[in-house]
Amino acid sequence: MSERRPDLSVIRDEIRAIQAYAVPDSTGLIKLDAMENPFALPAEVARELGERLGQVLLNRYPPAEPRAFKDKLARAIGLPAGMRLLLGNGSDELIHLTIQACARPGATVLSPWPSFEMYDLSSRFDGCRFVAVPLAADFSLDRERLLAAIAEHRPAVTFISWPNNPTGNLFDRSTVEAVLAAAPGLVVLDEAYLPFAQDTWLPQLAHWPNLLVLRTFSKLGLAGIRLGYLCGDAAWIGEINKVRPPYNVNVLTLAAADFLLDRLPLLDGQAAVLRAERARLLERLCALVGVTAFDSAANFILFRVGGGSDGADRVFAQLKSRGILVKNRTHVHPLLQGCLRVTVGTPAENDAFIAALAASL
Ligand SMILES: *Cc1c(COP(=O)(O)O)cnc(C)c1O
Repeated sequence: MSERRPDLSVIRDEIRAIQAYAVPDSTGLIKLDAMENPFALPAEVARELGERLGQVLLNRYPPAEPRAFKDKLARAIGLPAGMRLLLGNGSDELIHLTIQACARPGATVLSPWPSFEMYDLSSRFDGCRFVAVPLAADFSLDRERLLAAIAEHRPAVTFISWPNNPTGNLFDRSTVEAVLAAAPGLVVLDEAYLPFAQDTWLPQLAHWPNLLVLRTFSKLGLAGIRLGYLCGDAAWIGEINKVRPPYNVNVLTLAAADFLLDRLPLLDGQAAVLRAERARLLERLCALVGVTAFDSAANFILFRVGGGSDGADRVFAQLKSRGILVKNRTHVHPLLQGCLRVTVGTPAENDAFIAALAASL
C-alpha cells in the first residue's frame, strides 16, 4: 500500500502558490495592527444586548430578506431613492461577490496600488486578472497612468479605497470622477473608514450608473459581528445578490446590528474620540526625529522610519518586544519601503506606542 499522503494536484496552481491571509498572534500585546475600535460597549449596553441576543431563535435560518433591518439601515445612512442594499459577511464577502458576479473568463479587476489586499486576493480566487496601477510617490492617484490602464485593460470592476488603506489619504475627487466616466464596468468606492473620513460618495449614486458604495460596521466598533453592506442601483444589486449564499449573514449579527443601529450616537462618539486621538498621534509622530508620518483620514497612520526595509523590520520587532503590535508594510510595495502602519488606539495605548517607538528608533 502506498504512503497516505494527499495528492494536492487538483488544487489550482495559483492557490497553492499563495500564503493564507496571515493574522498574527496578538496574545499579551497592545493590538494596533488591524484598525479595530479599541473601545468596548458600556457594561449596561452590553447587558441589554445580551438579553436581546438571548431572544433570537437560533434553531431558525436567517430570514430570506431582512426587510425591516434593511429599511432601518437605509434610513440611518440616507440611502438615495431607487437604490438598494446588499448585506455581506463583512465587506470582504461583498468584494468577493461583486467580483464573482463579473468574473467572465479573462475578466480584469483593477485598483490603484498599494491598496487593500483583498481586491487582489479575491480577484485571483475568482480567476480574474488583477491589474495594480501604482500610485504617485505622494500616494495620490496618478491620473494619466490610471486612465491609460483603464483604457488598455477595460476592467470589469475597479476598486477605489476611500480613504486608501494602507496610505490613509483621500484621493482627488475629480480624478475619481474621471475614472467613473472612463470605466467600462463597475467602480466600487470602498468606504470602510467612513466614521473617520466623514466623506462619502453615497449621494453620487444617483449620478453615476456604474458606481457602487461599499461600507462596513467593522471599523466603527463591530469588527467581530462581520457585517458589511453594498449600496447601488437596484439592477446591480439584484444581479450580485444572485451569487450571495442564501444565509450569509447570521441571525446574531442581524440582531446585534439592529440593536446598535438604535444606539449609533454611542458609536459615533467613540469615532469622534478616535478622530481627536488621530490628530494627537500624528503630531507626536511628526515630532519624533527619524520618523515621517503621513496625514490620514482613517483610524490608522502610515509612517516611515529610516534604514529602508531593514529599518522597518527592526523597529517592528522592537515595538513587539516592548508589547506593541503594529503592521509592517515595508515588503508590500516599493512605495511603502520603510513603512509601518499603526491603528489609532485609546489615549493610553497611543501614549504607550509613542514611548515604545521613541525607544525603538
Ligand atoms: C478593513 C477594510 C475592509 C474590511 O472589512 P470587513 O467589513 O471587516 O470585511 C474593507 N475595505 C478596506 C479598505 C478595509 O481597510
